[in-house]
Amino acid sequence: MTEGTHAAETGSVRSGFSGLAEVISRARARETRAVARLISLVEHDSPALREVAAALTGTGGQAHVVGLTGSPGVGKSTTTSALTAVLRSAGRSVGILAVDPSSPFTGGALLGDRIRMSEHATDPGVFIRSLASRGQLGGLSAAVPQALRVLDAAGFDVILIETVGVGQAELEIASLADTTLVVLAPGMGDGIQAVKAGILEIADIFVVNKADRDGAANVSRDLRHMQSYGPGGGWVAPIVKTVASSGDGIGDLLEQIDGHMAHLRSSGSLAARRQRRAAQEIESIALASVRQRFADANGPAALDAAAHDVVAGTSDPYQAADRLLDSL
Ligand code: GDP
Repeated sequence: MTEGTHAAETGSVRSGFSGLAEVISRARARETRAVARLISLVEHDSPALREVAAALTGTGGQAHVVGLTGSPGVGKSTTTSALTAVLRSAGRSVGILAVDPSSPFTGGALLGDRIRMSEHATDPGVFIRSLASRGQLGGLSAAVPQALRVLDAAGFDVILIETVGVGQAELEIASLADTTLVVLAPGMGDGIQAVKAGILEIADIFVVNKADRDGAANVSRDLRHMQSYGPGGGWVAPIVKTVASSGDGIGDLLEQIDGHMAHLRSSGSLAARRQRRAAQEIESIALASVRQRFADANGPAALDAAAHDVVAGTSDPYQAADRLLDSL
């Protein structure tokens, strides 16, 4: 991104407000437009983010961050919407981030737009945003924690992060949550065998959605069977059956979510999880900065020249990499 773009973007972000300080203070009062502006800064990896992060230091830490993950079509959006309805009727405010780590172009559109069209779109106690990876060097793994920080500072009681079921980035994003829901549904191929490796292990709570369909009991049974071989001790992920489209079971799901937070607090794991989240956040910021410095110090010509030496056999790739790193 060029300096010109930065300046223009910062200007547009500030328009309608007297300055960044006002945007921040209004966002902290949960003013939707101000929150949206700060998240735009995050999404565009704006240099103003440093100022935002500095201003938000020491705020937040109150929100319960709940991640939802699972294969497309299992009902994550529907569950997010139903859960939001139950939270709102309990008077709790909800921030929703819909994240699609797989697609920089349509990012989050599938999810976020569907939720946006729902009954919650006009409720001031609900903030809905989809996050797309707009090619920033740190990618979504850098952007999502910053977006969480903004929503947390804005005072949302619960933040729901919904990810599309794809790859490593999804696991990374799930690891940002205090509580991770893995959503499954019957009729998704070969039962729980079809679920991507690594996903079942991150569940704090299993949601067997579409419980109105044949096969839901089998999915629950397979999960229980799998758990009986688990490591045991500590938290055993409860299995909650839901029909998100009608709201059945969503109250139970919220009870389990709150129960998990109570467990995190009483066991001391909440602090450990948040420490891990901060470590991940620092690492992704640092790595993005190293990448940027590498790119600034070594133009494509320098990399081409180094590649040429390796192909010509006058240098090995480690020596070549070291020389480029020396220029940082
Ligand atoms: P996502 O891709 O995981 O976000 O899934 P969606 O929330 O978009 O749901 C996919 C489809 O399943 C939609 O047509 C929903 O209406 C439907 N659906 C969601 N929950 C249920 C449910 O509990 N029972 C049934 N029968 N259909 C559901």
